Amino acid sequence: MQIDDKRGGDMEMFELMAEGEHEQLVLWSEPRFGYKGIISLHDTSLGPGLGGTRFWNYKTESEALVDALRLARGMTYKAAVTGLALGGGKSVIWGDPRVSGVEREMVFRAHGRAVESLGGRYITAEDVNTSPADMAFIALETDHVVGLEGTSGDPSPVTAYGVYRGIKAAAMARYGDDALGGKHIAVQGLGSVGYHLCEDLAGEGARLSVADIDTGRVDRVVKQFGAQAVPPDVIFDVDADIFAPCALGAVVNDETIPRLKVDIVAGAANNQLQNTAKHGPALLEAGILYAPDYVLNAGGLINVYGELQGWSLEQSLQKTGEIYDTLLRIFTLAEGEGVSPEEAASRLAEERIEHGRHLHRTFLS
Ligand code: NAD
Repeated sequence: MQIDDKRGGDMEMFELMAEGEHEQLVLWSEPRFGYKGIISLHDTSLGPGLGGTRFWNYKTESEALVDALRLARGMTYKAAVTGLALGGGKSVIWGDPRVSGVEREMVFRAHGRAVESLGGRYITAEDVNTSPADMAFIALETDHVVGLEGTSGDPSPVTAYGVYRGIKAAAMARYGDDALGGKHIAVQGLGSVGYHLCEDLAGEGARLSVADIDTGRVDRVVKQFGAQAVPPDVIFDVDADIFAPCALGAVVNDETIPRLKVDIVAGAANNQLQNTAKHGPALLEAGILYAPDYVLNAGGLINVYGELQGWSLEQSLQKTGEIYDTLLRIFTLAEGEGVSPEEAASRLAEERIEHGRHLHRTFLS
């Protein structure tokens, strides 16, 4: 499910879309407001494409397009494997994300008009460099936006709970017992998700080694949960049971895999494997069980899906807890078919998407 970032430059757009099986790409331009937006819908067989709006100053137009395509595809897989009635979509605004005041309002209202043009086929939310206040500007132009102030709220505790349940499932698969009491867990990144994850893990009696480049965040977790602080560049070398990356992407790579002394890698960070096709099998080879990141960190998506469905927080947490069962299925499938868990997760998602397509065909025939 990876789209090569280097593609797009001299590539025909329809060819690129066909390769990734994308349905629709919308370019929306309102130059008087400095707005250039792209909405990418990957697959809507299971429901409307839901995915955030990323505000980023891409170097080139093709970089922005390829990012929109890649991110939308990721959302299809995340929604499908999680069992939500949602498809995959994502949007990017190409420009300087530091824009403020009335200019910012104009940019996001223009984006709202672009979202509205799709009549509900795409629903947007926050992403990198966008906030609930930006979503409120979008909401002036369209109803197809979630994550507004006073609605489902900060997704991080829900995401952290899903990661915690996922870690327990990985422990069950690896040790035949999902109890985390006494297990040594190395957590990288103590931000919104990492902090709540440490709270959940410490609550079950896990022993924590933690790292963050922000020393204030480290001190807080050391004080509150009795964690042991390690320098950020040493977290990969900790002799622990489980490594939970909750900071950046691409942390599992050629350089770090030989350093890992853990049985399991399971964390919140998006795109942990620098190269999915290479580093998924490399972890398998190294005898390390990998819990695919997009399965583990789906709690944030479930949280906004719950907002659409009118769920209570308890209902969203209950659905998030099912990440445990989904992961166990994935590990069983991976073992049975001799593939990496990442590959097994893709197969499970594709099976569901195909089912959705079949239902579409049945209804239309
Ligand atoms: P955040 O920005 O609140 O926290 C990230 C933390 O990582 C910060 O404390 C930062 O100082 C730290 N960090 C950065 N570089 C580091 C390094 N080299 N070593 C150690 N620490 C470092 O982000 P978050 O919301 O907690 O999200 C964490 C990860 O989970 C991200 O990859 C994000 O995309 C993913 N994720 C988050 C959610 C959510 O609900 N917030 C949902 C799905 C996925």
